[in-house]
Amino acid sequence: MIKTMPNDRAERIQSLLADVVAFDTVSDRSNLSLVAYIERYLASFGITGRRILDDTGQKASLWVTIGPETTPGIVLSGHTDVVPVERQSWTSDPFKLVERDGRLYGRGTTDMKGFIAVCLAMVPEIRKANLAMPIHLAFSYDEEVGCIGVRPLLRELNRASVKPLGCFVGEPTQMQIVIGHKGKHGVRATLRGQSCHSSLAPNGVNAVEYAAELITEVRDRATQFATEGQRDEMYDIAHTTMLTSIVQGGTALNIVPDHCVVEFEARGLGISESKLVTDSIIAWAKAKIEPAMQKKEPSCRIDFEEILNYPALEMKPDHSLVTLAKQLASRNSHAKVSFGTEAGLFVSIAGIPTVVVGPGSIEQAHKPNEFVKLSELLDCAGFIERLIAHCTKSHDLAVSGLDC
Ligand SMILES: [Zn+2]
Repeated sequence: MIKTMPNDRAERIQSLLADVVAFDTVSDRSNLSLVAYIERYLASFGITGRRILDDTGQKASLWVTIGPETTPGIVLSGHTDVVPVERQSWTSDPFKLVERDGRLYGRGTTDMKGFIAVCLAMVPEIRKANLAMPIHLAFSYDEEVGCIGVRPLLRELNRASVKPLGCFVGEPTQMQIVIGHKGKHGVRATLRGQSCHSSLAPNGVNAVEYAAELITEVRDRATQFATEGQRDEMYDIAHTTMLTSIVQGGTALNIVPDHCVVEFEARGLGISESKLVTDSIIAWAKAKIEPAMQKKEPSCRIDFEEILNYPALEMKPDHSLVTLAKQLASRNSHAKVSFGTEAGLFVSIAGIPTVVVGPGSIEQAHKPNEFVKLSELLDCAGFIERLIAHCTKSHDLAVSGLDC
């Protein structure tokens, strides 16, 4: 049931956030009950959203248009899923919103149910406004496991006859205007060697030792990026990064291991750089390591699979959407962040210019006792309030065009 909403904006945001946080939408679970809650809330204002279900039918994105259907508008975008709370020590129930000293604690308060709650709290005002161009809400799923859930929605938007002019992704930036983030490509390598008694080590094909060669190459290339690669000083780490994060192999000290799994990733500056970097490592391993393994036993090999892939975001600082974002946030500056978001996908799949701007700090995301400041949620509400005013009159964006 939708309870009666308080008139006061801060109370309304807090009340909605308490409801939204209470849904356990960790990425490996269904988000449908949260989607249904949002649908009921929107219905109370006469607004109908559209679900885009995943293949299992257990998760859905929600696409909402408020205002004229046939005019290009602006998207407010967020993900409904959150990261797990297991093995984190919380001082209160992560799925029950707690307020202390102007901070709202709970899983997802910063990343990024706080933003969703603000969007919902502003729906009555969006609804009342006489919009010349629509405001859309796009709520996705499975963002935390590789920006997966938003893709079918974006493919639909790309096919639509009327495409939004721009999008604001409300990931936590403390309301800074973020015009760029790195991309990421993650790869799992499975090395298949040949085991034997360790006393006969030279007769086997040691998958762990060949994995060590791969790991060393990843590290050497990471060093190369740090010392002589392309740089963008707007990032806290100004160059492309690479690392190995997981190694699993071997069964006993006296057995030459025939199996080793290595997971590595690249976070690249350019839009598709991450994948180019990992592709080149794969080609190197196929040319250097695999033939050496096969010399002793032809059936030995390395299998590579993609774990995760999303593009970087690279908006021009003088883009009209960036200028609009600065006006709405009352800021002159812009920034770039190293963490990934769905923003790069809005540009690359649907050609929709996108800026990341949202309440809360990434410092609090994914941690125990995650919180967002109520004052930042109110700043975000102010941003949306000014967006509403913009959408009642202005078609500047449409006139100037929004090239990515
Ligand atoms: Zn997030």
